[in-house]
Amino acid sequence: MNCLFCAIVTGDIPASKVKENANVLAFNDINPQAPTHILIIPKAHYENAAELAAADQKVLGELFAMAREIADEKTLNGYRTVFNTGEDGGQTVFHAHLHLLGGRSLQWPPG
Ligand code: AMP
Ligand code: ZN
Repeated sequence: MNCLFCAIVTGDIPASKVKENANVLAFNDINPQAPTHILIIPKAHYENAAELAAADQKVLGELFAMAREIADEKTLNGYRTVFNTGEDGGQTVFHAHLHLLGGRSLQWPPG
């Protein structure tokens, strides 16, 4: 399988790593939309958040736990966590990833 984020997990493609544990990896988004824009991914491949939720709710929870840890370490004044799913959802990489955005006042609703 040819998956960009699996290649980041194995180290075949470099990334700016922020934090990791046995199941989860966090790295800086290459095209940041906020001063803090980090992607938090399961090390195992799932196409999207729904597939991850169906297969492994523990790891799904670990993504949000890591988002909190990073936000605390960066002392973010609030943050946004987003899963884009499918074409109209704006998903472009089909390995589940939680966006962690912060460091500025974010607009709502998003476009
Ligand atoms: P999405 O559109 O929700 O699928 O998000 C995919 C994200 O991956 C985008 O925000 C991209 O900027 C980001 N991205 C794509 N390639 C890389 C890469 N090599 N390293 C880090 N982030 C990437
Ligand atoms: Zn993958």
